[in-house]
Amino acid sequence: MKPTALVFGCTGQDGSYLCKSLLMKGFRVIGTSRRRNPISKRLNALEIKDEIHLISCDLQNQEDIKTIINKYKPVEIYNLSAQSSVGVSFKEPAKTHESIVIATLNILESCRETNFKGNVFCAGSSEIFGSTKKPADLRTNVDLRSPYATAKYQSFLITKMYREIYKLNCVTGILFNHESPLRDDKFVIKKIINQSIQIKNGIKEKLILGDINIKRDWGCAQEYIEAIQLINRSELNKDYIVCTGESNSLKFIIEKAFQFLGLNWKNHVKISKDLYRSKEIENSFGNPSELYNDLGWKAETKINELIQILINYELKSD
Ligand code: NAP
Repeated sequence: MKPTALVFGCTGQDGSYLCKSLLMKGFRVIGTSRRRNPISKRLNALEIKDEIHLISCDLQNQEDIKTIINKYKPVEIYNLSAQSSVGVSFKEPAKTHESIVIATLNILESCRETNFKGNVFCAGSSEIFGSTKKPADLRTNVDLRSPYATAKYQSFLITKMYREIYKLNCVTGILFNHESPLRDDKFVIKKIINQSIQIKNGIKEKLILGDINIKRDWGCAQEYIEAIQLINRSELNKDYIVCTGESNSLKFIIEKAFQFLGLNWKNHVKISKDLYRSKEIENSFGNPSELYNDLGWKAETKINELIQILINYELKSD
């Protein structure tokens, strides 16, 4: 019989790629959505909607989670469900907290109560480090600058607590930003790619952005999905930082995207102070060496290639 993997948040960017990767590795995949009628456009795009068991699960309800664990008996669990936008978290702090902190607590408590012996991976976020002057690692101090970062840090602590006190095999992968053609439109890289193509096609005149001097460590989602699985299966049962180790500014990405389309970004980008965040993170990048030394994973796709992949995908689907 095939081993079973349970993916909470399977309709999102990472959840969809993860389900596909798990199927290819021979798992039976149970994916959950909080919706009664899940939006499965990403699963459709990857042509796996009919290959996974897509079910509804309320992560605010422990009984719901326990029923699913008891029924499907997974050997691996992935906790990817979240209100995942930093920007939205300023407008919806309570919903963000609930979707991250309470969901993590309910999943881990359900694992404890059902005597779950497999591995649980929780998606953490680099946002917990705030601005980094040198590459962040697990010893870097936290600097919480948004409701999202605060929730992700609480989720990290809860996971550590269940590992250390209740001896659950649960870990957090602290993920730096990672992009793909399946990224939601509200995220800035997707916005830049989509709107630069619309400008090229004469559909739009200006791309309006906030602070374009911010720098981030941007990686490729499909690669991060493999890191997530390695971390979850590792007998070391440790938290890890998942990143490329390189930091690039939004300005650089804009310049490259417009260049690929044969345009000069300066003629098409407008800066709006209204889009600036009150507590912006100026620069954020991580140190990938522990993950490489322990588990042999490193990011392969460099930023130029990533931008080219995203643009090519959108041009093809135009
Ligand atoms: P995503 O595309 O936004 O998917 C997350 C899924 O969570 C959604 O599809 C949604 O599925 C579910 N969800 C549960 N509560 C929600 C709420 N209140 N509002 C909106 N959606 C909610 O996120 P992702 O990019 O795949 O990221 C996966 C995980 O990694 C998340 O925990 C995220 O915080 C974390 N992470 C991502 C990045 C990144 O760069 N992508 C970086 C650091 C950390 P249903 O509506 O079907 O329930």
